[in-house]
Amino acid sequence: MNGRSAGDAVVEFDAVSKTYPGGVAAVRDVSLRIERGELVAIVGPSGSGKSSMLNLMGSLDRPTAGRVLVDGHDVASLTDREVSALRATRIGFVFQQFHLAVGVPVLDSVADGLLYAGVPMRRRRAKAAAALARVGLDHRVHHLPHQLSGGERQRVAVARAVVGEPAVLLADEPTGNLDSASGAAVLALLRELHTAGTTVVIITHDREIAAALPRRIDMRDGRVVADTTASTAIGAPR
Ligand code: ADP
Ligand code: MG
Repeated sequence: MNGRSAGDAVVEFDAVSKTYPGGVAAVRDVSLRIERGELVAIVGPSGSGKSSMLNLMGSLDRPTAGRVLVDGHDVASLTDREVSALRATRIGFVFQQFHLAVGVPVLDSVADGLLYAGVPMRRRRAKAAAALARVGLDHRVHHLPHQLSGGERQRVAVARAVVGEPAVLLADEPTGNLDSASGAAVLALLRELHTAGTTVVIITHDREIAAALPRRIDMRDGRVVADTTASTAIGAPR
């Protein structure tokens, strides 16, 4: 794929706007960089454009203006097929609603995260088992989604998101449907993945969660109104 940029930004927005058909300007002139290895919270009231930002970061949507680079690739310069490949191999998603296929054992759901990467089935299942062990669910691999608690389902979704070792994990309100104990466990898991080297972006309503993360991007009406790094000792990583 062409369009690689210099530097080590996993996500780069250059004057990005997103206006939906009908005229809602969900994202307005946003420029930002998320470097490899960061853990970032995106916060803001409902309707402020958080999910629209995440969809742009994940190449699920294209901007109406400006430039989006994901893992160094200018999304606009890629064909649909290349965007699908980028998304399937370099980006992991976790949503508020866990999106696990009904009636599919969790091992297979997680293994399906590797379908597009062209990994042979046996290897997919081995990697899926390892990812499930990583999220503490090695004793649940043959369970169906309805046999799991909400917190366990979200951990399966996280395993599916990271099984292909993506460049970035994007989570949209991952604790939004969970009780506080399960939410805390999912958050701890995302922090562990970050510590182990994964770049993680978390949309959250939860002020406590956001306050505990090293960088916080605040949105209002489609604009970034604050971008705060907790550490004052050094600047952003290069
Ligand atoms: P948040 O995640 O912060 O709640 P969203 O990004 O979902 O915000 O939405 C931002 C604005 O864009 C809202 O006004 C919302 O109604 C609008 N919006 C979101 N998705 C669409 C869409 N697919 N079509 C039209 N308008 C949309
Ligand atoms: Mg949202």
